[in-house]
Amino acid sequence: MSSETITHDVIIVGAGLAGSWAAMIAAKQGVKDVAVLSKIHPLRSHSSAAQGGIAAALNNCRPVAGTGPRGPLEQIPPGDEPVDSWELHMFDTIKGSDWLGDQDAIEILVKDAIEIVFQYEHMGCVFSRTPDGRIAQRRFGGHSVPRANYSADWTGHVLLHTIHEQALRQGVHFYSEWYCLELIVEEGICCGVVALDILTGQIHTMRARAVMFGTGGYGRAYAITSNAYANTGDGVAIAYNAGVPLMDMEFVQFHPTGVYKHGILMSEACRGEGGYLVNKDGDRFMEKYAPDKMELAPRDLVSRSEQLEIDQGRGIGPDGKGIYLDLRHLGREKILQRLPQVRDIALKFSGVDIIDEMAPIQPTTHYSMGGIPTNSDGQVRANLAGDPLTGFYAAGECACVSVHGANRLGTNSLLEASVFGRRAGYAISQFIQDGAELKPISDDPAERSRKRIETLLTREGPENVEHLAQELKWTMTNNCGIFRDEPRLEQALVDVKQLQERFHSAAIMDKSSRFNTDLLAAFETEHLLAFSEVIVSGALARQESRGAHSRTDYPARDDKNWLKHTLARKDRDGRPILEYTDVHIDWEKYPPQERKY
Ligand SMILES: Cc1cc2nc3c(=O)[nH]c(=O)nc-3n(C[C@H](O)[C@H](O)[C@H](O)COP(=O)(O)OP(=O)(O)OC[C@H]3O[C@@H](n4cnc5c(N)ncnc54)[C@H](O)[C@@H]3O)c2cc1C
Repeated sequence: MSSETITHDVIIVGAGLAGSWAAMIAAKQGVKDVAVLSKIHPLRSHSSAAQGGIAAALNNCRPVAGTGPRGPLEQIPPGDEPVDSWELHMFDTIKGSDWLGDQDAIEILVKDAIEIVFQYEHMGCVFSRTPDGRIAQRRFGGHSVPRANYSADWTGHVLLHTIHEQALRQGVHFYSEWYCLELIVEEGICCGVVALDILTGQIHTMRARAVMFGTGGYGRAYAITSNAYANTGDGVAIAYNAGVPLMDMEFVQFHPTGVYKHGILMSEACRGEGGYLVNKDGDRFMEKYAPDKMELAPRDLVSRSEQLEIDQGRGIGPDGKGIYLDLRHLGREKILQRLPQVRDIALKFSGVDIIDEMAPIQPTTHYSMGGIPTNSDGQVRANLAGDPLTGFYAAGECACVSVHGANRLGTNSLLEASVFGRRAGYAISQFIQDGAELKPISDDPAERSRKRIETLLTREGPENVEHLAQELKWTMTNNCGIFRDEPRLEQALVDVKQLQERFHSAAIMDKSSRFNTDLLAAFETEHLLAFSEVIVSGALARQESRGAHSRTDYPARDDKNWLKHTLARKDRDGRPILEYTDVHIDWEKYPPQERKY
């Protein structure tokens, strides 16, 4: 396979909201040569699948007085008392994070939220509207007031199209269907990536003054997930393999409403608009678990409640592993206007029309709270002391800044990808303007990737990549899922290590070089296997229950021993070493409290 060196000022891997914002801002700030790599067409990035909304305390809508916490909403007349503030958004986010979120980063998130939503609007983003023309807002789980700004149930789609247009307008160059294989770090400085042009099969060394990852989440490490096929956590694994530590990887979010048997998302907007969750006996069981918030409690709590109902024999469907989502009382007009995509998904995948029937759903792996540790300018932390890895940035779902802590609130991640993608863009342009050099690269960094490909193309081994991936996904689902305990996590760890071994004798069928999707699946599986070990190791070590990490053998939150972030670094023998670092807490304003809904 031939190889060619390509040079840019800035290379961003990932064309979702985080990568596109960073690229657009860096170019707008005067960096001449900004390139974005995406393994799929940029507009197919998972950001475009987001449905429900983006959070910001705009104060456009409020509940109609006297109708209770689930009553109808109305626009707030100009001049009336606001119901929301960035401070309230901040408190909700901290509580949602089970106090593991870094409060300095959360403050930036919620303050910048207001400006960034208006910036989207000024760039031409088509939001749904209130009767007087302001941006419409709906309720979302864990948020005290309606602050999810939305565009029907197509929010991510319209946001991504808006920002992609702006990036093109600023002259950003997109490499569509290019796959990043490795990060080049020499003497502690990041100086480029190695990438495969999927169409030609050529490997390229790509040098840059600064590199950023906006490579998204890793839901595909699980069998049932709302995530796109591309969400295989490549960036997280590539960074880990290059010596970067990973933070809080044990915190994996399970969303309460995936299509039964498939996992495809039925947006939280369903519950935001007033949907009910019902067990096989017809009970709205959330009454037992979160009497105040009911279906609009945060995702970790609702998913656990569903799982308990299922485990105690009150699930629906042939295997009893489903729950009903009841939207019938919303009425045809509201469903068609606010939830058209959800209706379509239920029709296609369950054969159910939500206007007339209840939809079968189940919890689904959805979001990765952990990732590549960064400061609030997207600068990657190289070690426990927090020293920056010069020239390397990350933002969005692959990063851990950490605003979501142990559990993310819905609508806060489109926000995070936008806010911290934008901040990374400013930081990168400053870094370039301060004279960042194009570092010489000593040997041939593409050599390892070429060998990796050659081995996969020539090996005749007995193992099958797809089977290994399936085994991994099921052990992660069964043993490192919503509820965890020591024996199951031990089992998951044994399984993952064995699968890593077996991968060394895995073969692929397609031996060609152009558009070889077998080869891509092999890289992705290797990546899943690398960071899954980190997820399981972190989960096994953390002997408490906090947010999405729920240990049946340690059911309580333990602030004395575990109010700290996990950092996992790859040891010389290839195993993760776990270290811990403090959470940034304002002890006067937001000290840890019991988390009740
Ligand atoms: C179904 C669904 C609905 C959601 N709804 C909401 C919502 O309503 N509100 C909300 O706040 N959040 C929502 N989320 C979460 C939110 O959409 C994501 O967290 C966010 O969009 C992530 O953006 P990102 O820019 O970090 O990554 P992504 O948008 O996932 O983009 C990742 C990019 O990285 C590229 N990439 C990855 N690996 C490689 C590689 N090896 N080489 C080259 N390119 C690579 C991909 O091609 C892609 O361009 C939802 C998520 C899902 C799955």
